[in-house]
Amino acid sequence: MHPVILYNAHFITFKKRPPNIQAILLNNGLIEKIYFKKSLLPQNIKKINLKGNYVIPGFTDCHTHFIARGIELQRIDLEKCKSLNDCIEKLQSELYENNEILFGSNWDETGWGSFKLDKLTKHTLDKISKKKSIIMRRICGHFAVVNTRALNLIPQNRKIVDRENGYLYEDIALNLDEIFKPSNVMLEKAIKLGTTEALKNGITTVHEITDPRRFRLLQKIKKTKGLKIRCAAYITSKYFYDVLSSGISSGFGDDFLKFAGIKIFLDGSVGAKTAAMTKPYNYSRTKGKILITIRKLEDIIRKAEDNSIQLMIHSIGDRTTDTISRVFERNIDKENPLRHRLEHIEILNTSSMRKIAKMNLIVSMQPNFVRRWQKPGGMYEQYLGKRYREMNCFKKLLDSGIRVIFGSDCMPLGPLYGIQGALEHPFSCGRLSTCAAFRAYTKDGAYATFDENKKGTIDTNKLADLVVLDKNPLKEKEPDKIKILMVLIAGKIVYRRANVSH
Ligand SMILES: [Zn+2]
Repeated sequence: MHPVILYNAHFITFKKRPPNIQAILLNNGLIEKIYFKKSLLPQNIKKINLKGNYVIPGFTDCHTHFIARGIELQRIDLEKCKSLNDCIEKLQSELYENNEILFGSNWDETGWGSFKLDKLTKHTLDKISKKKSIIMRRICGHFAVVNTRALNLIPQNRKIVDRENGYLYEDIALNLDEIFKPSNVMLEKAIKLGTTEALKNGITTVHEITDPRRFRLLQKIKKTKGLKIRCAAYITSKYFYDVLSSGISSGFGDDFLKFAGIKIFLDGSVGAKTAAMTKPYNYSRTKGKILITIRKLEDIIRKAEDNSIQLMIHSIGDRTTDTISRVFERNIDKENPLRHRLEHIEILNTSSMRKIAKMNLIVSMQPNFVRRWQKPGGMYEQYLGKRYREMNCFKKLLDSGIRVIFGSDCMPLGPLYGIQGALEHPFSCGRLSTCAAFRAYTKDGAYATFDENKKGTIDTNKLADLVVLDKNPLKEKEPDKIKILMVLIAGKIVYRRANVSH
């Protein structure tokens, strides 16, 4: 790239004592120089006038499934359909398109008046086509109806399938990708679409949870067309032993694409009542369950430690977090040199919190969950009663010395929506200052992948990953209303909002 100067902007650093930056020089993908006086700007370098807008470091979204999001974007969206007939017409209109299956998602019968499910069975969908597989997945993701052709592709041993009607429930509905595997063409397009959506939202780095096949495709795209977004890949634990025998350790790769670590699931979710809790869910006997034995967990941790592999551990319920913090205490060095991280930690007890702080475990949280589920009367309160007041306690964790990083989990993909959740948290244990919320999505996110000296702040010699906003993020009470005008990665403009010129 040619050197370029960004000027006439407010450079927001989220530092305690903000420096008065007047302009920055970008060169070779880096922030090469910072100017504190306008009069010192050199004459012979190209300049971009940012017209008084606001520049912040690019966001790191620390928990994404952006490829899955890109697949979803290629499916037929039934959310706006007003009736079953609407859905059928929409599916029919896509019948002769060049798609392998007709996959309609997000239908929601709650607005359809007097709809009865017996009107929608495999026979209904067979009338559209018997030659192509057809899937209609409900908006919750936990239920789907399929035609006979699709049904025949589902292994006979799978339970929770009603073969008479073509109804699929829970796991099988949620994980249809495992049976109806997207083609490479679809996956490559998904990477493109997912990237575009991430960039639009100011994300310059994703921590993507993925598998070897998708990781390989990311490498291919990087080599041929170039990846447009930086990606730290966390491979799911199913492949842990393959990764071990391949000999790679965390950090293998470069600034655009690297292997970051292994993702392990310890429990489910609050919404599905499968996150492991100390006390049962409201009006229910279930307490959720921990999905892996302690022995197995210890084996993975020891091998990860011996082979320099960072672990990303999904732990939502207080019982799970209690267990994993004890297991870590017994098995890792208290400085946590590999920076193992815990995902979600929606609720935890004081003793786990102390252990996590003592061992320097990183806690990766989703502030958007507050907006979705933590309102009074919302899902958390319905399922957990009073306990919902203690959930997503970002502030309390930060105050106890824990490093909290933020990610969206693609619900939806986009930091500003979530940051607003952290500012508006209904309880003081969770409410954050603007600076703290942005830092968890920038500087601290970079720390999680050992990149704190490379990105996450506006400083000399950092990667030139920057976002231009139309409003002052430090003053705006509703960050979700801020518009993203421009995104730069390695000093190159990778996204520009329509009608924005310079
Ligand atoms: Zn996730």
